Amino acid sequence: MRIDIISAVPDLITSTFGHSILKRAIQNNLAEVNLINLRDYSTSKQKQIDDYAFGGGAGMVLMIEPIAACINQLKSERHYDEIIYMSPDGELLNQKLCNQFSLLKNIIILAGHYKGVDERVRQHFITREISVGDYVLSGGEIPAALLSDAIIRLIPGVLNDETSALSDSFQDNLLAPPVYTRPADYNGWEVPPILLSGHGANIDKWRHEQSLERTKQRRPDLLK
Ligand code: SAH
Repeated sequence: MRIDIISAVPDLITSTFGHSILKRAIQNNLAEVNLINLRDYSTSKQKQIDDYAFGGGAGMVLMIEPIAACINQLKSERHYDEIIYMSPDGELLNQKLCNQFSLLKNIIILAGHYKGVDERVRQHFITREISVGDYVLSGGEIPAALLSDAIIRLIPGVLNDETSALSDSFQDNLLAPPVYTRPADYNGWEVPPILLSGHGANIDKWRHEQSLERTKQRRPDLLK
């Protein structure tokens, strides 16, 4: 899968892809991530990418020309399955959407900044608008990194143990069960004995019960 992230401040995201699971996915050619600096597509001498909002009011708006030039360039090179704009008024991101996106071949993610992007970008170039939650961030960079992370870890082969993503919270509308590691006894705080029993089927059963219990307590809405 190839992800092109267009941003006014790509440096905000660079390190996300330079470590741990995402770094390995990229090294193993399971994912390709291109960070594109919007300024490189500015059509003006001063490398301008934002301007005042028509009608007045505080805050700058990302201009359509550089974004259009960038997206048109990318589209001339390959087909894109989705061109996503990160936006607080978009569709709320969830695991189901991440699963769907992880099956795509090429996507563009546009990160807004300041007051956002010229509305005509959204009308004419964007195919999906995604929000990471009902709160407002300074820019779409962290949301773009967040979306990329959530997608890439679902690509087969990215996680060492492929069943690992399947046992995470939300995959089957259940929250994940509690996990423990050594020591089995920390100052008298013991790990549930069943986990040390070596009996696979019983452990699976216990974990499923814990998942159900946790979901009932914390997110009963998921069980509906
Ligand atoms: N004026 C806009 C917010 C702009 S915030 C409004 O009120 O809706 C600047 C940029 O940050 C946005 O263009 C968007 O790309 C990003 N952003 C902020 N909050 C976000 C969220 N919850 N989900 C996704 N992107 C977000």
